[in-house]
Amino acid sequence: MDLVAVLEDHGIPVVDQRVPGIPKAFHPVGVMAHHTASPLGSGDIPSLNIVKHGRPDLSGPLSQLLLGRSGAVVAVSDGHCHHAGGGTQAAWDAYHNGQEPQRAVNPRNGVNGNYWFVGIEAENNGVGEPWPAHQYKMYVTVSAAFCHEFDWDPTVAVLGHSEWRPDKIDPAGFSMHQFRQDVSAHPFLTPTLERPPMLLIIRPGGTLYVVYDGGVMDHAGNNINAYAGAAVYQADAEGWNRYVDQNYRARHLMNKDLPADLKVNAKWPALIGG
Ligand SMILES: [Zn+2]
Repeated sequence: MDLVAVLEDHGIPVVDQRVPGIPKAFHPVGVMAHHTASPLGSGDIPSLNIVKHGRPDLSGPLSQLLLGRSGAVVAVSDGHCHHAGGGTQAAWDAYHNGQEPQRAVNPRNGVNGNYWFVGIEAENNGVGEPWPAHQYKMYVTVSAAFCHEFDWDPTVAVLGHSEWRPDKIDPAGFSMHQFRQDVSAHPFLTPTLERPPMLLIIRPGGTLYVVYDGGVMDHAGNNINAYAGAAVYQADAEGWNRYVDQNYRARHLMNKDLPADLKVNAKWPALIGG
C-alpha cells in the first residue's frame, strides 16, 4: 500500500514521514479509528515521534496515519503497524457478515487486527477534548478516500478501536455510527451514475468510456481529471454492452490532458452501435 498515492489521488495534502513497517504481513480490509490521548494543548501532532518509533512497551510504527489537531495528515508507514491488537471474534465475524461494528465486549478471542486494518491515530486527549470541525472533517475524508480506493463498504469496514477490543475506548468524543454515516455520505462514495453522461470517449479497439458530470475518468492506466462517476463499456456482436465496473468510480483527481489516441463523442451509449 502506498499511503501517499492514495491520499494524493484524492486531493488530500499529506506530510510524508514514512518509516518501514513491522516485518509482518499487511492485507488491509478496512480503516480503524483511534485517538492518541495526547494532552490537551500539546500542539498539532505531538505524538509523531511515538507513532513513528514506538514506546518502551510497544515497538513502532504504531499506526499507518496520524491526523493532527489542525487536520494535517501524516503518512507514517505503508506497512504493518501496532495499532489494533487482538480483537473479538464477534467483531471479526460481524465484518465478514457485512454487519455494522458494535461496541466490543469480552471475550477478546479474535484475530490480530494489525494484519487487517489501516490505523488512523488522531490527536485528541480522549477525555473530553472537543474535536475541531476541520479535524473531524479530515478524519471522514481520509476514511472515505481509503474506502473509495479499495472498494470498502464504509458501514462495515470503518470501525473504532473500541469496536475491535473491549478494553479500548477510542476514539472517544464522537459516535462511530455517525462517523460511518458521514464517511458514507462523502462525495468520494456517492457516485452520480443516475445522471446522464456528459462525455463519451471511444478508445480504438472498442472500449467506450462514459463520464458523468465532472471530467474524464481513468482506466487502463490513463489518469485523467475525473471524480463524479463513470462506467466502461465494450463493443460486442450485440452492440455496446456494459462489461466492467458497473458502479465504476473514477479513482484519480489528477489533472492531465486527454491521451492523444482518444476521441470524444457526445452520444448516449445506447445509440452507438445499437
Ligand atoms: Zn487505539
